[in-house]
Amino acid sequence: MIKKLLSSGRFLEKQVKRRDFLKILALSALGSGMASEAFAKKFAVYTGSISDPIDDHIRDYLYKMKNFDSPNRDDIRINREVYHTFKSTVKRLNRLQSLVGHGRFHILGLDEGLRFARKYPVVGKFPREELDLMEELFYKDAAEYGFLGEKTLSGLTDRIKKGDVIYMRSQGNYLYREHSLETFNKIRQQVGESVTLTSGVRGVMKQFLLFLNKAYKNQGNLSLASRSLAPPGYSFHANGDFDVGQAGFGALNFTDRFTSTDVYNILCDLGYLRLRYELNNRLGVRFEPWHIRIT
Ligand SMILES: [Zn+2]
Repeated sequence: MIKKLLSSGRFLEKQVKRRDFLKILALSALGSGMASEAFAKKFAVYTGSISDPIDDHIRDYLYKMKNFDSPNRDDIRINREVYHTFKSTVKRLNRLQSLVGHGRFHILGLDEGLRFARKYPVVGKFPREELDLMEELFYKDAAEYGFLGEKTLSGLTDRIKKGDVIYMRSQGNYLYREHSLETFNKIRQQVGESVTLTSGVRGVMKQFLLFLNKAYKNQGNLSLASRSLAPPGYSFHANGDFDVGQAGFGALNFTDRFTSTDVYNILCDLGYLRLRYELNNRLGVRFEPWHIRIT
């Protein structure tokens, strides 16, 4: 089934090799209890040699992470045969978000989303083939296209309970009442109004929309999308993690330039920046200095 969704076997074959390498890399680093800095140094040493195939893999991995937004020849893409279904799903998800509003869409579950789509012609019912595509993407092992993070949702229909979250009106985002809210409030007390909540709780529909929009802008490239956005079902925004930024810094809050802000430096000094995706992480994800790890 998944072969129908993804691109040719040639790409899949290459991908298996990369996945095996990444698993070895992840296991060796985790198994030795290696800290990120030590891991980075090991990378630096490895990049000096050109004869070892493992060195080549590490160099290749580091290059891809550094150039996370650039396509690579062995990236996994949506199969051309189902591209029209992929495209119509992306368009429908965007219409659904416009209908329910950006705020509420953050916590919309699949069943609720499907009900809205059925009821309002401006969105239109999700046809069977679009649901199949979403289901396949959700249950697929994302490691096959390069994302090695943990699964955070077990089921496609998992919902965020409204009572568990609070809408932060001034920020336009939700936070979990336990842990996340307390942490964000503490940060605000220490840092002041200059820190903003750039992204809070995200349910499965929001993650689908973000991930598929990114892939769509890049010709259906799932590997490229997964280097900067967790695939649906793998985002810790469903469990309490959130993103912060500096007021007035706009889209630059989601770039490495965030590390030059006062907010970032104060958060580091105060010890609040426990990052989910550190520099040179071995999860197949770009460095995300703005993403605060809660759990
Ligand atoms: Zn994040």
